[in-house]
Amino acid sequence: MRLFGSSGVRGLVGAELTPTLAAKVGMAVGTFTKAGRVLVARDTRTSSLMLENALVSGLQSCGAKVYCLGVAPTPVLAYLTRVLGADAGVMITASHNPPEYNGIKLFDGTGMAYGDEHQEEIERLVMYENFRLADWQNIGEITPVNETSTYIKMVLESVQLKKRWQVVVDPGCGATSQIAPVIFKRLGCKVIAVNAQPDGFFPGRSPEPSAESLQGLAETVKALGADVGVAYDGDGDRVAFVDENGIFVNLDRILAAYASYAIKKSRGKDRLVVTNVEASMCVERTVEPLGGRVVRVKVGDVYVAEAVKKFDAVFGGEPCGAWIHPQHHYCPDGILSSTLLLKALEDEDKRLSEFVAHVPVFQVLRRNIRCRNEIKHAVIERAADHLKASFPDCRDLSTVDGVRLTFEDGWVLVRASGTEPLVRLTVEGESLKVAEKIMEKAANVIANVLEDFER
Ligand code: MG
Repeated sequence: MRLFGSSGVRGLVGAELTPTLAAKVGMAVGTFTKAGRVLVARDTRTSSLMLENALVSGLQSCGAKVYCLGVAPTPVLAYLTRVLGADAGVMITASHNPPEYNGIKLFDGTGMAYGDEHQEEIERLVMYENFRLADWQNIGEITPVNETSTYIKMVLESVQLKKRWQVVVDPGCGATSQIAPVIFKRLGCKVIAVNAQPDGFFPGRSPEPSAESLQGLAETVKALGADVGVAYDGDGDRVAFVDENGIFVNLDRILAAYASYAIKKSRGKDRLVVTNVEASMCVERTVEPLGGRVVRVKVGDVYVAEAVKKFDAVFGGEPCGAWIHPQHHYCPDGILSSTLLLKALEDEDKRLSEFVAHVPVFQVLRRNIRCRNEIKHAVIERAADHLKASFPDCRDLSTVDGVRLTFEDGWVLVRASGTEPLVRLTVEGESLKVAEKIMEKAANVIANVLEDFER
């Protein structure tokens, strides 16, 4: 069984994710880092302290020196892991998932999330319980640390604002509840905080920021006549925005708008941004005319971070609101993103609705086709050739994550669901008519391939 998904260990508390498993992951990290220095933080979930205690116990048992940050956003943990010179960072969080879930995210000493290789090593250690336990004299010590001021200092040095922005901040009762309002105040903003009491039941809204879950924020922004509303997911690596009219800003369009701003601000000849295979083609349409290039990778912030580093990109982001600013660090950072966005609005002398106005709107269609788990990956593999044959006007075929075909006026992505017996089709077109045409043709190809398999 695979322990890691696209963002660390994740599962239902008490069923998939237990203190026993957390302790084993702790022992694996303690063994893997050879009893190194490990920084640990957690989000506000009801199960987070319980899991942290178990995990820390596992770390100690292998002689690791443990530094506990308490409740802190994931990007703060990742940033401090590097700055404090720890060998690893561990974050207890299920990010945007419902309250009954929890998870464990691991970072290396450079503040980068563990990639596939490191994850597989941890998985092997957990599976075979191949732990190197310390003797009684060498049990690891625990030291509480309060270093969030170091992170706040980094943000304040990176962003200076001239205008006194009126900002409504919505941490959703998650890990950014205390730190986000403080940072905006220190930037000189007029801050109104909603859902800013840490609460693992997430009474204000879902930990996942979306148009639906942020209706309350949108109404508050409008009622107060504020300049902008910002909202984070449960662990603060994602951000979403509400504009000055109280309208939720489409996540793909704000990603494209910020990516094009990052390209404009940067110098050098080969400037590029990284996004994933699911993001809208509005990213290319806004970045390419400025001389920028777009690299697309597998879905998952780890893959975006790795590509940003590898290609020395100026910016990386996924349409879920996870944005990476490599000038500062390689972990998606909701708080930093939201303050940098205000800076971008000042630079361009625009309101938020104006900032995204130049980004085109395209039509997206999604369809699921039932497909047995045993064959879904083979179906996708075989579908690549058939899709290529059926779409002679295809400009580019990528198999970096499923199969993705790019056309002049749209694209199609075919992927196997991570958890369900489904093949998922995503199509985007310049118009609804174009999108529908691509979808019909692609769905037919997949249906035929499936039929071949079942014959
Ligand atoms: Mg998150």
